[in-house]
Amino acid sequence: MNRTSRSMNRWKRLHQKQKEFITATSSMREGLILMNTDWHILSQNPAAEKLFHLKPENDDAFEDISDDFKEMIKTALAGEQNSGIITQDERILRIDASPITSHGVLTGVSILAYDVSDEYTAEMQRKEFTANVSHELKTPLQSIMGSAELLQNHMVKKEDEDSFINRINAESKRLLNLIDDIIRLSQLDENQKMEKDHIDLKDTVKEAADVLTKSAEEHHVTMHLDLKNAVVYGNSRLLYEIAYNLMDNAIRYNHDPGSVVVSTYTEDGLPFLKVSDTGIGIPEEDKARIFERFYRVDKSHSRATGGTGLGLSIVKHAVKLCKGNIELDSKAGEGTTFTVGFPENTED
Ligand code: ADP
Repeated sequence: MNRTSRSMNRWKRLHQKQKEFITATSSMREGLILMNTDWHILSQNPAAEKLFHLKPENDDAFEDISDDFKEMIKTALAGEQNSGIITQDERILRIDASPITSHGVLTGVSILAYDVSDEYTAEMQRKEFTANVSHELKTPLQSIMGSAELLQNHMVKKEDEDSFINRINAESKRLLNLIDDIIRLSQLDENQKMEKDHIDLKDTVKEAADVLTKSAEEHHVTMHLDLKNAVVYGNSRLLYEIAYNLMDNAIRYNHDPGSVVVSTYTEDGLPFLKVSDTGIGIPEEDKARIFERFYRVDKSHSRATGGTGLGLSIVKHAVKLCKGNIELDSKAGEGTTFTVGFPENTED
């Protein structure tokens, strides 16, 4: 006769339940931990093991955690469901800690941990961007209003009137550039599906060079185009943004007189765009930051040449959307080369 004791049956049921729990929670992206009132872990899923470096057979007390996290668990042990944000290994986690009760008696706490680092960082960047935009829009507007007011109240000498009007003009242009760049960036951020075509970078560069002819003349910069076939399967607007912004910078941050060489070519089946200038170069300590929104090595130089501080972040964004790669090679005082590589010209 096969008679199993009641306690053995209970153990079997518990074992079975634990197996079911592991199966059900093993594919969850969120970390899940069940602990008893003595802070000992009863169950955990693989995501929790990864987030909190737990060993699979861990039955240590769950104590090696931040004070904030401990407080949340204590609150749950006091019978109150609560949630909050903690930092763990430089990741930002949202924690939900809930009391577990059985027949009205508190038996432990369930902890759900979601990794919200990406959303959190994006939100911080968005806030920082909004603050920067407001500041950047205000500066030229204040200058325009100040000059207009002085002119209106006849407080400007006749011979200075032109320079005030020129300032109003220049600042208005800068404002317009800024608004254009902000719109472009937000369109890129929207991640809409972009139409793709087989586009020769040669044509993109020619188009940008046409638009930039006047600026090159004003800055006494000679443009050399060394254009070989380089066909990219991509979005024409994105490619234009990349070429235009790199060429525009190569002119604006050049010496007077200076020169720019723009080349397009194919190497190992991959299309490339290279923009080289003989300009002021980028100091070593600024190289890592120039792709950030509104970062400028020399604010007054950027402003004087109509810069917005957004050109390279548009380039970086566009290169990423094209699944390309951008490299910077620069020596302060000598010049800068940006090289952009694109995936091979095939429809994916
Ligand atoms: P901006 O509108 O100020 O030109 P960008 O985002 O295009 O903004 O560039 C950021 C900063 O990087 C510039 O302000 C400038 O200091 C530096 N920079 C960009 N391109 C060049 C270049 N070709 N040579 C030297 N400095 C450059």
